[in-house]
Amino acid sequence: MQRTRFYLDASRMPRSWYNIAPDLPGQLPAPLHPGTKQPVGPEDLMRIFPIELLKQEMATERFIEIPDEVRDLYYVSRPTPLIRAVKLEKYLDTPAKIYFKHEGLNPAGSHKTNTSIPQAYYNKIAGIKKLVTETGAGQWGSALSFACQHFGLECEVYMVKVSYNQKPYRRSFMQLFGAEVIASPSVRTMAGRRVLEENPDSPGSLGIAISEAVELAAQRDDTNYALGSVLNHVLLHQTIIGQEAKIQMEMAEADPDIIIACVGGGCNFSGMSFPFIQDKLSGKKKDLQVIAVEPASCPTLTKGTYAYDFGDEAGLTPLMKMHTLGHKFLPPSIHAGGLRYHGMAPMVSYLYEQGVISAEAYDQVKVFDAAALFAKTEGILPAPESSHAIRSVINHALACRESGESKTILFNLSGHGFFDLGAYDAYVSKGLKENILPDDELKTYLKSLPEVYSEAS
Ligand SMILES: *Cc1c(COP(=O)(O)O)cnc(C)c1O
Repeated sequence: MQRTRFYLDASRMPRSWYNIAPDLPGQLPAPLHPGTKQPVGPEDLMRIFPIELLKQEMATERFIEIPDEVRDLYYVSRPTPLIRAVKLEKYLDTPAKIYFKHEGLNPAGSHKTNTSIPQAYYNKIAGIKKLVTETGAGQWGSALSFACQHFGLECEVYMVKVSYNQKPYRRSFMQLFGAEVIASPSVRTMAGRRVLEENPDSPGSLGIAISEAVELAAQRDDTNYALGSVLNHVLLHQTIIGQEAKIQMEMAEADPDIIIACVGGGCNFSGMSFPFIQDKLSGKKKDLQVIAVEPASCPTLTKGTYAYDFGDEAGLTPLMKMHTLGHKFLPPSIHAGGLRYHGMAPMVSYLYEQGVISAEAYDQVKVFDAAALFAKTEGILPAPESSHAIRSVINHALACRESGESKTILFNLSGHGFFDLGAYDAYVSKGLKENILPDDELKTYLKSLPEVYSEAS
């Protein structure tokens, strides 16, 4: 019988995270202070982040040891299996070999606990009592709530209002872990009140929810902020995925030609791909193709601009040089597939600018078609986000059928889709429509990048 599942013994789980910074072809543009437009120093960020995370944010060493307390909680679900999607290969009648990492087996159902656990830990040892954060559909909020209750921290979650109303079970899931969940925009913060004054029916956005969380965290010494993607230290924590995958691909006697992952803020993509990109950058694996997949409704890499922009709506965060649709971007509430953040991790944006990685964008209907095929063949219901990657995998596998090439494709299944049955219901009852960001709308949002900020770039 053909071997299709590759399990790594816990004793072989990597002991360090991989930091790509020293291996990048150049220097990442520094984040700038939102007021002075000068590079931010650690002292500016110490109000909302613990020192150990700031050190990691700016670290130049290649490997950073994973603390025992973090490893101990990783063991709840890690190492995650590497699986060969033989039934999908067979259905597609392709000579391509398809492998994936199943991050949906983690607590809260996605890769996000890979970073929520160390973030809660480093805040705990810094003496912090409470973490405040934002969440879109609830995945990051539940991952952080899980980690906070483990380390005895309080957790306050600002949840994008449209999701708060449409997805009450996600809210209950976070409350189960002891978190307080507030619909954003809320009246609790200046940022929230300002949005509500302009538009009392605002559906909210990740950018607005981040503003609320950052504002509150900056006000109290015992309270910090936690972000689920984008920042260097978050990408760093996710590299546990790709490092495990590297060992498991060796166990499978396979070597990837193409690596694919979906991108929202870019952290599961980075986690899977960075350990392999190390070999591409060193020349050991020059021909490796690495593809980031995003929704056509939020095409940050494929259509956004590479410029300094805020990470949040109100302009409280440092300015980061990244691919962005503009911090005033309001994602369409009808879009079912997630991945709705206006910006992109600076490291991912930089690698894209350097031509080290490429990007593809797909409409949600084609994405859900891919999800359905994956569920039917492999028996796993994928998260709509992860299904963007699956869409791309299927297209590349079909291209192999045409060309007769037997490429090895590795992708990250970032999460399972059991929380998204509402979206699947819309799909099966034919309620899902094509959803592509129109060019004129894109132009309007890009105007939210004021002149002064592009000067800084
Ligand atoms: C949050 C999430 C994403 C997008 O975030 P990244 O930072 O781009 O990884 C993708 N897939 C799932 C399942 C998620 O929960």
